[in-house]
Amino acid sequence: MKYIFVTGGVVSSLGKGILTSSLGALLRGRGYRVTAVKIDPYVNVDAGTMRPYEHGEVFVTGDGAETDLDIGHYERFLDIDLARANNLTTGQVYLSVIQKERRGEYLSQTVQVIPHITDEIKDRIRRTAQEQNAEIVVVEVGGTVGDIESLPFLEAIRQFQFDEQDGDVMYLHLTLVPYLPTSEEFKTKPTQHSVSALRGVGIQPDVLVLRSDKMVPDEVRKKVALFTNVRPSEVFSSPTVQYLYEVPLVLEEQGLGRIVEKKLSLEAIPPNLTFWHNAVKKLKQPSREVTVAFVGKYVKMPDAYLSILEGFRHAGIAHDARVNVRWVNSEEIGDSAQAAELLRGVDGILVGPGFGIRGIEGKILAAKYARENGVPYFGICLGLQVAVIEWTRHVLGLEGANSTEFDPYTPHPVIDLMPEQLEVEGLGGTMRLGNWPMRIHPETILHRLYGKDVALERHRHRYEVNPEYVGRLIESGLTVSAVTPGMHGRGEGLVEAIELPNHPFFIGLQAHPELASRPMRVSPPFSGFIEAALEYKKASVGQGQKALAE
Ligand code: GLN
Repeated sequence: MKYIFVTGGVVSSLGKGILTSSLGALLRGRGYRVTAVKIDPYVNVDAGTMRPYEHGEVFVTGDGAETDLDIGHYERFLDIDLARANNLTTGQVYLSVIQKERRGEYLSQTVQVIPHITDEIKDRIRRTAQEQNAEIVVVEVGGTVGDIESLPFLEAIRQFQFDEQDGDVMYLHLTLVPYLPTSEEFKTKPTQHSVSALRGVGIQPDVLVLRSDKMVPDEVRKKVALFTNVRPSEVFSSPTVQYLYEVPLVLEEQGLGRIVEKKLSLEAIPPNLTFWHNAVKKLKQPSREVTVAFVGKYVKMPDAYLSILEGFRHAGIAHDARVNVRWVNSEEIGDSAQAAELLRGVDGILVGPGFGIRGIEGKILAAKYARENGVPYFGICLGLQVAVIEWTRHVLGLEGANSTEFDPYTPHPVIDLMPEQLEVEGLGGTMRLGNWPMRIHPETILHRLYGKDVALERHRHRYEVNPEYVGRLIESGLTVSAVTPGMHGRGEGLVEAIELPNHPFFIGLQAHPELASRPMRVSPPFSGFIEAALEYKKASVGQGQKALAE
């Protein structure tokens, strides 16, 4: 097993997750089996209970773990499915050490940060890499070197160089090199300090990656090398790029892959990065474009919907189209006129996931606008639920229909908690989470998109379409296009997806298909949505020309 540890310095949010993912992609491109582990030094056991406004989206793995969004980057760049074990937090480590202590597993010992906590960290990294049958594991230590809370993790990764053989462990450090426009120079001092902080905990980096807006010139790389005990050839520049998928290419061009091969005593293999080259070309020079409205609550924090935006990108690569996003804050949609004003001119409408009542009525109006005007609609999780509420209120005529999440006393609880959820206590990891199969009815748009009868998608929700109303939904003309097979003992399982028969493209999914979308394998409903948006655009341009001619 080979280990690559990635740390970060100077400031947070430099893109360690992207660097880790890119390294993984360069190694995958050489044919290695690679996995990645993200260490989050916070005390939460998982990311499920944290605010997306602060940390970005909660990424759900197939096995139902609520993880940091970097796990999503790893999955997309490495094209592998990761699991709960790939996201390690302080909370998990302490929880299990304390539980072991209570069970008497350390009997007679004083339980300490070194060696008990550090051993637990090392065991978990090793076990994950072994269980996932990897040849190389890339481990990203979250936070910034110098933080108090990451110290036990840095100590644990330091020990690897002595536990393992020479040539099996390497350390890569990512820092910021700011550019001062007034004096027209790149400043290396913060990097020097950061490396000396890292050396202070016993880790000499093998490779430095310098983040900056522009490519860092050679003399700056040389200067950094001189002050930090690395060779100039081991200092890389990672300038800001337009598309994340360019990062592996930019680093490979400077020879990062080769340096990693040398440090890890691997033979030199010319990488196959054709997919990334083509993807970047498609993203930069698409032949078409569409604009879709993203109706949501966190419109000022796109990271809260990261995987959905990635899904659009994957669909763009597949359809050779640029997908522009118009952010629409659902709280600003107060009535149908405002919906029309904010949504006019878009080629598709997406209502995204969400929790809590804020902005709900605006989302319902957005679904109504899409249904009445024949605009392609894609509802994800809450986006399905609001489409069902909209339909029952305005087509079925059930006044006050709602989800009990937003109105516990609604006369028509069309979206409701299922008995399993009513019994749940506590909030971490208690939703319907992870992969669930859905049985897709033939002769639906969904079946055409997936091309199969059963598909797996990841879930993260508490509420469901109320089985008591399903009969009436179907009678009134709504298509239930997929159900959970064999669940619930009510004949038909829970509603997994809906669509409208007399509409060019109106679909809702209870699952989160964005989580499984990959640049090389776009999620079917994302592909379908963008395809429908392209057709809608073509048709509306055609109509406009006809109107002009008349
Ligand atoms: N709040 C809804 C539920 O819990 C939807 C969740 C979501 O969109 N992920 O069912």
